[in-house]
Amino acid sequence: MTDFRVGFGYDSHRFTPGRPLVIGGVVIPYELGLAAHSDGDVLIHAVCDALLGAAGLKDIGTYFPDTDDMWKNVDSTVLLEKVVALAAEKGWHVNNLDCTLILEKPKMKPHVDAIIDRLSQLLKVDADRVAVKAKTNEKMGFTGAGEGIAATAAVSLVR
Ligand code: MG
Repeated sequence: MTDFRVGFGYDSHRFTPGRPLVIGGVVIPYELGLAAHSDGDVLIHAVCDALLGAAGLKDIGTYFPDTDDMWKNVDSTVLLEKVVALAAEKGWHVNNLDCTLILEKPKMKPHVDAIIDRLSQLLKVDADRVAVKAKTNEKMGFTGAGEGIAATAAVSLVR
C-alpha cells in the first residue's frame, strides 16, 4: 500500500507600495506589493507550510527565520525548492496541490495558468496535479477591505 499524507497551509500578507507583487512565483502587474521579510509570495508560503506539515516537518519560519538576513527579500520559489528537497529527503513527493487565494484586487484570472505552470515546475509534477483558484471575500474582513492577500493550500504527498 502507498504511504500517503495530507498537509494544509495558510498565509497572509499586507499590501504595501513600492514592491513588486509576486504570487506563486509570477510577477503580477499591480500598483502594490506585499510587505514581508522575503518577497512576500503569500501563495508560495502557504504551499511550503502545507508540504512541511504533510512531511511531518516544522513550519516555514523554523527553516527560514525572518530574523536571518540570508532570507531578506528572498525569491520565495527558492524556499519552495528547499522545502520540496526536505520532503524528498524523507522519501515524500507531491501527488497534488490545491490552493485558493483570497483577495479583492487585482483580478487573478489572467495569471492563474502561469502560476499553475510555475508551481508544477517547482513541485516537479504535471500541471493537471496543481489547482489554483482565486476568490474575493465579498468585501468582508481584511482581504475584503483590500488590506492584503490570504492564501490557503492543501497538498497530498506519496512515498
Ligand atoms: Mg508569509
